[in-house]
Amino acid sequence: MTIDAFGVTDKGRVRPHNEDAFLVAPDTGVFAVADGMGGHAAGEVASRIAIEAVDELLARESALPDDVPARLKRIIQEANRRIAERIQRHPECAGMGTTLVLAALGRSTVWLAHVGDSRAYLIRQGAIRQLTSDHSFVNELVRLGMLTREQASRDPRRNVVTRALGSDPAVSPDVIEESFEPGDLLLLCSDGLNTMIPDEKILKAIQDGASLEDACHSLVEEANASGGEDNVTVVLIRTQQQPQADAGSPAQRHEVPHTSPGSSQDGNGTA
Ligand code: MN
Repeated sequence: MTIDAFGVTDKGRVRPHNEDAFLVAPDTGVFAVADGMGGHAAGEVASRIAIEAVDELLARESALPDDVPARLKRIIQEANRRIAERIQRHPECAGMGTTLVLAALGRSTVWLAHVGDSRAYLIRQGAIRQLTSDHSFVNELVRLGMLTREQASRDPRRNVVTRALGSDPAVSPDVIEESFEPGDLLLLCSDGLNTMIPDEKILKAIQDGASLEDACHSLVEEANASGGEDNVTVVLIRTQQQPQADAGSPAQRHEVPHTSPGSSQDGNGTA
């Protein structure tokens, strides 16, 4: 199995800083998007701490642990602890926090863990499906039947998150396991994408993209063309069958040494 992935982040048209961060580590099949919050550039600090924790504690491991969900939860707790520790040492960072959506690819499986309103979508057989459920105020109202999804996407309170890293001593991520096969596409994004353009437009931009890189740039352009009111980050991931010479052998990803570049502003890779 080979993994193709690409990620892009952009500060959008309105915000003075980009407080989003992301990780693309195709060598180990680990991907993440974090959307920081907090004044005086503290949001950038929080999202970077979270992404660095994922990089250090998971993306540099040579093998996925036996109990992936428990491991993902521990890593998110550790990222939370590091953000809290930073706030203790730097009181000017008080109130900073971050969302995090994290994907770990196994053979035919993807594990997702998330806190906050950064999302994962699966694109399969021409359809797009949101895999994560936002930890956000408006999504709570949707669940209660008080808002439709359409209303929620335009509600002025749409960026209020109900869970984030950095705000409490303990954080409780949701962990999801999904099948992930060659031909499937996984999208991780910050809310600067899905609050600016509807899911159908996201799907179309991806389908029309000549490559993952092209699709990532199209998504950012669409979000900006629709107002670009927030930082926007997109990471696209797909797997392909092993070339003929390796056909028939089991997936080898657990034996691939780590050579990840870590997070970057604009990065790709093929493992
Ligand atoms: Mn955002």
